[in-house]
Amino acid sequence: MPETPEELWERAHDELRVPPVEEWDTWPFEGEPSVRPLERPVERERPRFGEGGVDCRRCAAPDADYLWTNERWRLFSFEKPSGLPVVVVLEPREHFGEPGDLPDELASDLGLMLARIERAIRSLGELGRVHVCRWGDGGEHLHWWFMARPARVPQLIGSFAAIWDDILPPTPEDVWRADLAALKAALDA
Ligand SMILES: [Zn+2]
Repeated sequence: MPETPEELWERAHDELRVPPVEEWDTWPFEGEPSVRPLERPVERERPRFGEGGVDCRRCAAPDADYLWTNERWRLFSFEKPSGLPVVVVLEPREHFGEPGDLPDELASDLGLMLARIERAIRSLGELGRVHVCRWGDGGEHLHWWFMARPARVPQLIGSFAAIWDDILPPTPEDVWRADLAALKAALDA
């Protein structure tokens, strides 16, 4: 069993380290960083948005808010472009909180959907990788991120792509809209 949060805090709060980020090619920032103090564990986890499906904005959103839908899944794209060329989010139509909460049939279908969407995004071209990620600490409604990074920019590889998404200036809106339309067409094909 893992340490309790209190045990972890006791052991770790005076021993925090700054990893050698300046040696990392993908570290987006310059200057010497300092680590924030590790705060003590709280009494309980803060509820996520839409917990238990109550007031869940994802459940309440109409299909028209999505780039693409089928009977089980909906693919969300944001209103405005961000720094990475393509960022979209896959959600089950029904409200589930964790991947392990999905019924087997839907979990199997999820595997197919992750592959299908990754393939469709990659087919747009000029992309080095499509990162497929799930965090889930904000909204409870299960959602998977697809974050495509540009090809041939070694500095943008790896997990910091999610940070570069906020650092790079937004993709031109016409390019972004054309790519989303092509993605939708690829998924409909
Ligand atoms: Zn929901």
